[in-house]
Parts: sequence; C-alpha cells; structure tokens
Amino acid sequence: SSRIKETFPELYQAIEAEKVRQTNKIELIASENIVSPAVLEAAGSVLTNKYAEGYPGKRYYGGCECVDVVEDLARDLVKKIYGADHANVQPHSGSSANLGVYFAAVPVGATILGFDLSHGGHLTHGSPVSISGKYFNFVHYGVNKESERIDFDQVRTLAHKHRPKLIVAGASSYPRIIDFNKFREICDEVDALFFVDMAHIAGLVAAGIHPSPVPFAEFVTSTTHKTLRGPRGGLILCREKYSRDIDKAIFPGIQGGPLMHIIAAKAMAFQEALLPEFKEYQQQVVKNAKILADSLANFGFHLVSAGTDNHMMLINLSNMGVTGKEAETALDEVGITVNKNTVPFEELSPMITSGIRIGTPAMTTRGMKEVEMKTIADLIFRTIKNRNDSNRMKKIGGEVRELCSMFPFKD
Ligand code: PLP
Repeated sequence: SSRIKETFPELYQAIEAEKVRQTNKIELIASENIVSPAVLEAAGSVLTNKYAEGYPGKRYYGGCECVDVVEDLARDLVKKIYGADHANVQPHSGSSANLGVYFAAVPVGATILGFDLSHGGHLTHGSPVSISGKYFNFVHYGVNKESERIDFDQVRTLAHKHRPKLIVAGASSYPRIIDFNKFREICDEVDALFFVDMAHIAGLVAAGIHPSPVPFAEFVTSTTHKTLRGPRGGLILCREKYSRDIDKAIFPGIQGGPLMHIIAAKAMAFQEALLPEFKEYQQQVVKNAKILADSLANFGFHLVSAGTDNHMMLINLSNMGVTGKEAETALDEVGITVNKNTVPFEELSPMITSGIRIGTPAMTTRGMKEVEMKTIADLIFRTIKNRNDSNRMKKIGGEVRELCSMFPFKD
C-alpha cells in the first residue's frame, strides 16, 4: 500500500497520473529516458537523509562512512566507463556541471567560444539569459547553411579572431557525430582549453558508438539522465591537473551538500552501463533513429543535415505548412510526445519554431525496434496531415495506445 495515497491523496493522484501518461504515450523527447527499477530504488533510498558536504574522506559532517562508499563507487565506475583521470559526481544537474567547469577553467569575464543555441547548442553554452552568458564573454559558432553540419571554417576563424580561453563543443539538438579531434586542433592553434558537454550522447560514448571526447578535452561534462539512462543529475570528468579546481568549483563553489541518494542512483546506472546489454541497447537506439529518420524522409519531411548519426533527429517543418508549436500540439493530442525546436537559421520565435526534435532512447528502452519505428513515422505523418480532422485524430490516438500496450512499462 502507498503511504502517499493514505496521507496525501492529491499528490498520489498526480504521481499516478504521470505513471499512466508515461505508460500510454509514445515518448520521443530526445533528452528523456526510462530508468531501471534498481536506479529508481536507489533514488528513493534513505540516503536522502544524509548531509555530506565535502568529498569522500574529507567531509564536514560525521557519519559519512557509508555515503563515502557510495560516492567512491560512483566515481570509480564512471572513470572506468570513460577512461577518465578524475570524476566529480556531485553536480545536481547538467547546468551545474557546466557552471563548475567555467568557474574552474577560466576567470569570470573570459572569452569563451561555444555552439549557438539556435544551431544546436545548450542555454548553458553562453545564452544571454543564462548565468553562463551573463558571467562570461561568449562568442558563438554555428552550422554551415548548406550541409547543416558544424562549420569548422567558422570555428577556426572565430577562434583566431577572438582568442578564447576555452572552446565548448557538445549539443542539445545536433544529429551528427561531433569531430572532437578537429576542435582539439583549433584549441591548440589558439592556446585554448577544450571542454565537451556530452550530455546527449553520453550513453552512445559509453557504448563506443560515438567517439569519446575524453582523450581530446581537458573537461567533459554530462547529464546522467539522457542516453546514459540514470537519475536526473550531472557529472564532470577532467584531467588530473584540474581535479582540485573542479572539486572546489562544485563544492563549496556553487553547491552545498551533495544529493547522496541521487549519487547512489548514478552508481547503479554506471554499473548497468558496463553490462553487455547496455551496448546492445545503445546500438538499437541508433538503429531505431536511422530507420525513423529514413521513414520520415520518405514521407517528405526535411531532416536537418539530411539524416542522423546518433539518437535524435531534427525536422524542419517549413515545407509542411505547420509550425513546431502546431506539430507538438497535434502530436500531443494523439499521445505522441515531442518538443518544438528551433532549426538552424530559424525565422520564427522560440515559442513557435519551425521544427521538432525527435529521439529514440525512451522507446528503445520500452523494447521497440525497427518495425515499430516505421509505424511511428506513419503515425507522425498521418497526425500532421489530419490534425484538423477529429475523427481521424481519434483513430490515430487509439493506434498509439495499442502500440504502447504491446510494450509494457517495467516497474
Ligand atoms: N547540456 C546539454 C547539451 C543539454 O542538452 C542539457 C539539457 O537539456 C544540459 C546541459 C542541462 O542539463 P540540466 O537540465 O540537467 O541542467
């Protein structure tokens, strides 16, 4: 029986409703995933009761002997996965991890070169509305207008012109492999440090499907909840030389006590990431994305950069007579969850957009494979075409629920 149900029915109902939503809908948000019951158990454990400011062996509180074991397990496992010198598993989120790197790597006000938000970068890569953009002098590179891939000529030109102290690579909506070696070469030409935010592709990197940034970059951050399939949170990997600065930047620099229950859940997810099944899962994520992208292209959808190498794709809907916002709403109505997304050289506002972003990590965790991806492409096409026909929309909604019922949710 549920204690929440007995004592706070309204809260219980909201949580149950979310369970039903996750179970009955096709989840295509590229940054989401579904954790294992073991990760969920660790995240809900008594470790939430413990204060543990500091690091294993050097805490500001007594009674840390058990959580020290937990944090050491998490740090050792993540170092093993990525072959890193040093790991900090305390960042509460990807945004905190990125802020930690900026404060450890360069003085406030330094010039940093990052990927433009509307071309695929993240808010924390120097958007003026983010603390990153307020405290550092960001300059941005983008994608080439024709290829819609990172414009390395522009990266080089901007690097030589502005002499940044740090160059940032990594993305929230970029469907292609990122060539970390090319970035390293440019960093060396201008004497910049190199920082890769691998949040979206961390699971692919762990499985050896996307090249690892670790051999090329002084600093690597990630979220733990996307393709890596852990709890919501962040992490930092760095070269030994920067380990003290990174640890100090996170605590006491920008955070207080670590979330030990979440660090336990990270450790659980890292252990899962070392299993052979995890590699198979990541391979299926990429296979599914390719099939879904090809099937959507066959229906006439314009894929940014004409396809995908990873777990996600970006669709420019300009040729379909529908905005990102309208497409998101129509798809939501039939039970398909995506997010509207700006596309490179966007002409509409971020609240409207010309595109949608689609990813396969969550549905691959549910067990869906190539056949289901073709079905999903067909459902997306029919939904956008019939968005003003309520009878057809109802029928599509029924098909979505039926497909979901064939891939039950593990809990
Ligand atoms: N970095 C990248 C590339 C991301 O895509 C995201 C989240 O979408 C973040 C950082 C921020 O992570 P969080 O939402 O945990 O702060």
